[in-house]
Amino acid sequence: MKVLACDKVDGAAIAMLRAAGHEVSEGNALKGADLVAALAGVRGLLVRGATKVTADVLRACPDLAAVVRAGTGLDNVDVAAAKECGVRVMNTPNANSVSVAELTFGLMLALERHVVPAASDLRRGVWEKSRYQGRELCGRTLGVIGFGRIGREVATRARAFDLTVIAHDPVFDSASEGFGWVKSVSRDELLAAADIVTIHVPLTNGTRGSFGAREFGLMKRDAILVNCSRGGVVVESALHDALAHGTIRAAATDVFENEPPGESPLLALANLLPLPHLGASTAEAQKRAGTEAAQLLIEALAAL
Ligand code: NAD
Repeated sequence: MKVLACDKVDGAAIAMLRAAGHEVSEGNALKGADLVAALAGVRGLLVRGATKVTADVLRACPDLAAVVRAGTGLDNVDVAAAKECGVRVMNTPNANSVSVAELTFGLMLALERHVVPAASDLRRGVWEKSRYQGRELCGRTLGVIGFGRIGREVATRARAFDLTVIAHDPVFDSASEGFGWVKSVSRDELLAAADIVTIHVPLTNGTRGSFGAREFGLMKRDAILVNCSRGGVVVESALHDALAHGTIRAAATDVFENEPPGESPLLALANLLPLPHLGASTAEAQKRAGTEAAQLLIEALAAL
């Protein structure tokens, strides 16, 4: 069957689809009418995050039977329209968890050891040891908001850093889920007690804009925030105010409400470490996501 693989999906995924007998073409940066044209006769579509599988595209492609997103979430696929068109939609939510958890630690360490500004000073010939005295993670309290796949990978690694871990998640029960060493607390308790807050909730109607001025106000003035979840969970104007006025000490964010964030005033803050949504951008995660997605697509097409 004809398959379209978009967004530079990992080569191993394309090899698997071809080995399964599918005729695979590749397309990048396709949108609207170009995407519809490339989908003529195509039964299976493989995307990462860039290709927007909108209602208009789905309605214009009657041959399409399955769409698989190699990655977490389905932000770029109109799931309701796909259901209406009888198109199966799947994703690979487990593939990225370790990469995001590792980046979360990278950001905590980078913030606490001033890695980015110290390196940038040194490149300009400035040798500033005393200015960049940092802090250890050891012995401090890490608050994990959202204790799902990624939150758990973070908590598992936090043990090795001798961090005390507290978590808030409405469906998490620490004792029964093998995380007896993680204390389950209310969100307000977590915000008041944590030295480092890390957010790992999905973007839903319930979480959109759920981390704002009130939440920053509850945090310790000395605390730091790491957000590797989704843009839109944290209110960016409130984050800006909290950092600019010293309500919290520093923050790192891998995600923005609009990506790329353009002229966002957040980017001008010295106590914000911004990244261009790199959480899942590792060779391992992309290979895992690509091959898991290819396997799902092979199975879905075989069932037609
Ligand atoms: P998951 O579904 O496994 O876990 C999310 C957890 O959040 C669930 O346990 C859920 O009960 C909990 N939750 C939902 N609403 C909550 C709330 N209001 N308060 C506290 N907890 C709440 O998801 P995951 O795979 O761990 O992914 C978490 C987030 O990471 C998602 O937003 C995902 O999109 C994002 N993500 C980012 C990157 C990146 O590149 N930065 C990559 C992958 C995933």
